[in-house]
Amino acid sequence: MDLEQLWQLALGEMEVQLSRANFATWLKNSRLIEKSDGTFVVALPNNFAKEWVQNKYQKNLLGAVRNYDPSAKKLEFTVQGTAVVEPKPQKITTTDFTKFENRMNLEFKIDPVSNLNSRYTLKSLVVGASNELAAAAANAIIDEVGTKYNPFFVYGGVGLGKTHLMQAIGNEIIARYKGKLRPKYVTSEKFTSDVIWGIRNKRMEDVKKKYREADVLIIDDIQFIGGKKATEEEFFYTFNALHENGKQIIISSDRPPQSIPTLEERLRSRFEGGLIADIGFPEYEMRVAIIKSKLLEGNRSLSEEIIDLIARKVKKNVREIEGVLNKILFYREAKKVELSVKEVEEIIKKSVKDFSQRVSEDQILKAVADFYNVAPEELTGRVRKKEVVEPRQVAMFLIRDILEMSYPHIGEKLGRDHTTAIHAVEKISQEINKNSSLSQKINLIKELIFKD
Ligand code: ADP
Ligand code: MG
Repeated sequence: MDLEQLWQLALGEMEVQLSRANFATWLKNSRLIEKSDGTFVVALPNNFAKEWVQNKYQKNLLGAVRNYDPSAKKLEFTVQGTAVVEPKPQKITTTDFTKFENRMNLEFKIDPVSNLNSRYTLKSLVVGASNELAAAAANAIIDEVGTKYNPFFVYGGVGLGKTHLMQAIGNEIIARYKGKLRPKYVTSEKFTSDVIWGIRNKRMEDVKKKYREADVLIIDDIQFIGGKKATEEEFFYTFNALHENGKQIIISSDRPPQSIPTLEERLRSRFEGGLIADIGFPEYEMRVAIIKSKLLEGNRSLSEEIIDLIARKVKKNVREIEGVLNKILFYREAKKVELSVKEVEEIIKKSVKDFSQRVSEDQILKAVADFYNVAPEELTGRVRKKEVVEPRQVAMFLIRDILEMSYPHIGEKLGRDHTTAIHAVEKISQEINKNSSLSQKINLIKELIFKD
């Protein structure tokens, strides 16, 4: 390992320990320039940084260096301008991490004809309460392409598995029908730019042909088409042409058809004429299953304790779970020893920091109140109106689910005792699995809360 690599690893550790601002101010432009007899020389861009780092971070830095090079005994600091070699710790770290992530996605390959990524399969899709209906629909469509469930419209928040599900349907259809049925996957942006290109170059016939050749047309993130007149028009005709010929159409969006404000009425009613399924936020058990499945895929393992920790703390969406998991595996690989629970906690805290800092109890209460159209004070007040029973229970459930507050604390916040809080949380947890309209409501509220 050369000095630069060593320094990047040590900085990686410091980055986890320090706030982003502190790291950027003091360490980003540092370099390791020399090593002799256990003394390592660190160059900083100016005297001020040198003093500061020497006084405040010397010990931690030495510890971090030692983790990767046990021969380190002492750090010395010197001032050296950064003009000659522009050190980019963050960039290098990111590149290493990207390489690592690519290795984690071993076989991923995009087929140029169907545009499908072979990484997305039904086998690798974990099914739980939040995507049960969508997964069942996927299987039914594969059995009966183009007939019963056409179009299929799947919606849900960012990173919850829409693209995975749709591409898995495409891949599965290719495998099942031995290539006789041709799926085509396209994002709605790509569709839009194809149409614009066709109009501009007077080659609309080619564009039409390209899409109307598909036996299964998969259009991702349709919400971005809304409001673009020419594109919607073309999509509508393509849609009809395919639909009339018994070709399967699969569409995704971040929200249900009736909530895409700019979508033309006739398109909306077309979508509503098919099968609609939503994908929600995965609950704890499903998060555990997802983590285990990703580990298995990458031929890796982590202790149950750490899996539980990730599943409890990372819950915004599946993409975030994957990101944190990869980061943990990356650090472990770089360090070559198991990470402690504390270190994993640090990595998680760092990765999901923005989110947990952003969400407060009051924000949850506000989102619930907004959703049910009641005043936040009604949730916390003594009044026993029937209309606020469900909102109140949902609020307690969400405070527990998202922030992991204690029952006495939740009770206090809502002006109730802790047994009421326990009852509410248990009731909603059970209801969610039985009552799809409640689970949909909770998903929509979570989207209000997690909205960027
Ligand atoms: P979306 O399209 O809804 O934004 P993606 O399909 O891109 O979300 O999913 C984000 C990431 O999470 C992908 O890497 C995907 O493989 C993974 N993922 C999502 N849901 C699941 C699931 N149920 N099981 C396994 N992996 C999932
Ligand atoms: Mg997607």
